[in-house]
Amino acid sequence: MAAPNPEARDGETAETLFNKGYGITYNDFILLPGRIDFGIDAVELDTRLTRGIRLRTPMASSPMDTVTGWRMAAYMALLGGIGFIHYNNEIDEQVEEVRKVKRFENGFIMDPIVLGPDNTIADVNAIKARDGFSSIPITEDGTRATRLIGIVTNRDIEFRKDLGTPLREVMTRDLVTAPKGTPLAEANRILRESKKGKLPIVDAQGRLVAMVTRTDLVKNRDFPGASKNEHKQLLVGAAVSTRKDDRERLDALVAAGVDVVVIDSAQGDSTFQVAMITHAKERSRDLQVVGGNVVTKTQCRALIDAGADGLRVGMGPGSICITQETMAVGRAQATAVYDCSRCANEFGVPIIADGGISNLAYLVKSLAVGGSVAMMGGLLAGTQEAPGDYYYKDGVRLKRYRGMASIEAMEAGGGKRYFMDEAAVKVPQGVAGYVVDKGSLMDFIPYLTQGLRYSFQDLGVRSIPELHAALADGRLRFELRSPSAQREGGVHSMFSYEDPFMNVQERARRKW
Ligand code: GDP
Ligand code: GDP
Ligand code: 5GP
Repeated sequence: MAAPNPEARDGETAETLFNKGYGITYNDFILLPGRIDFGIDAVELDTRLTRGIRLRTPMASSPMDTVTGWRMAAYMALLGGIGFIHYNNEIDEQVEEVRKVKRFENGFIMDPIVLGPDNTIADVNAIKARDGFSSIPITEDGTRATRLIGIVTNRDIEFRKDLGTPLREVMTRDLVTAPKGTPLAEANRILRESKKGKLPIVDAQGRLVAMVTRTDLVKNRDFPGASKNEHKQLLVGAAVSTRKDDRERLDALVAAGVDVVVIDSAQGDSTFQVAMITHAKERSRDLQVVGGNVVTKTQCRALIDAGADGLRVGMGPGSICITQETMAVGRAQATAVYDCSRCANEFGVPIIADGGISNLAYLVKSLAVGGSVAMMGGLLAGTQEAPGDYYYKDGVRLKRYRGMASIEAMEAGGGKRYFMDEAAVKVPQGVAGYVVDKGSLMDFIPYLTQGLRYSFQDLGVRSIPELHAALADGRLRFELRSPSAQREGGVHSMFSYEDPFMNVQERARRKW
């Protein structure tokens, strides 16, 4: 009898798993455990979205009109991920959503909105309705070119009934200010000690150059892992199509401060996309550009050569998607992410695994097969932060979720991604329907990140780079699951049971 081989390992490597000649989905395989020699606090989820953008949380919200508006994007960034604002709207509407995210949190607000002494309470209310804040510095002529003479905040006006009252009558004149050049940490200290809500920063002539708010100190305390730029503004992404007239859209988004764009196309390997990537990179050196969608190495190579800083991978795995059933083109998602990551890795370009992430395990698997960030639509569409209202159906709280190539979304303007907005006969590649209420992103994302930490611990890896190293050198072990293994891995043999995930939501809901 042969001696037992101490080197023998169970399962197989990703290389052999994904080279069997057929497509493999997240559900088809399981990951075998590694060794635990650390606590979950040792697990870091830092990752790269693109060549130039790092995130603390490997999650992005999809540019879909039932998923990502400004609120989703702001909260995704506060929680360490990022959101991509959809473009199923006019250019100025999309730009406004980007602006709102950029204004949401600040270090120094470099362009605070100001009014003059002759403006009225009604003017402040209009700003409040549009932008969400109501503390307005007052300057001599209502522009930042003249001296700061006071400030109006909610407390100055909340009990005033006459909306025509000029602000000179209600403004506070006795201000704590700091001089231009004060470092942010020092400004924050002055603000804390002054017990005021706002700290205007003024130049030697007394003109307002910036403002610091207490709310931002609180946001910074409450969301220490937020995705921010050097000015402490939240990072935000946006989608554009490959159409030539969307160059104007891209230029407007860049002017509004967008950090990253995805060129949104169902089949990304096209001359249109290459032209758009080239235009985007010429337009701004700082802008990060994600190309896609791709599912093969050849497609990846074309977009990397064109200058893409990141790649969005997926054709057909989306929960609302019928591309594979209509076009007969696409790829099983785990295979697509794995193969694309093998190509992109060589060039240092990260992969965004887009679509088909319907639970925590698939999120783990999307990273384990080479994704650096998971992009989600359906999983986030039921949260409070997604656009749209809740409906009740048979006592269940639901939100509308639709594919961007569903008839409904195309009629609202979304056929761009599929080259068919002007076509007389439309062939939909997506459906519209409902998803269940997922509570707030503020509970849901922490549930996902904590789950990821436990999973990494089971795998014996402390970080995404470590996971990817184990994937590459064969230490990460995979096994295909037979149909009965898949059944065994789910709940079975019960008369009835409570879905623990629903209970997480229910508990979260009771908190509000
Ligand atoms: P306010 O007291 O009603 O003005 O609002 P808060 O201080 O509670 O919140 C203001 C939030 O909006 C902060 O996160 C600011 O960074 C942000 N913000 C962005 N631009 C401006 C601006 O021009 N003026 C004010 N007041 N806040 C701004
Ligand atoms: P760190 O926060 O100490 O790691 O260092 P940073 O360079 O990020 O921040 C420098 C200073 O700015 C610190 O005093 C931070 O607390 C503060 N800070 C960070 N983010 C924000 C923000 O969004 N708003 C404000 N007002 N201050 C911030
Ligand atoms: P989900 O997270 O819901 O499984 O998938 C979301 C992803 O599906 C999106 O990020 C996008 O790539 C893709 N998608 C969005 N709308 C459509 C559509 O109408 N048709 C197809 N084929 N894919 C879509």
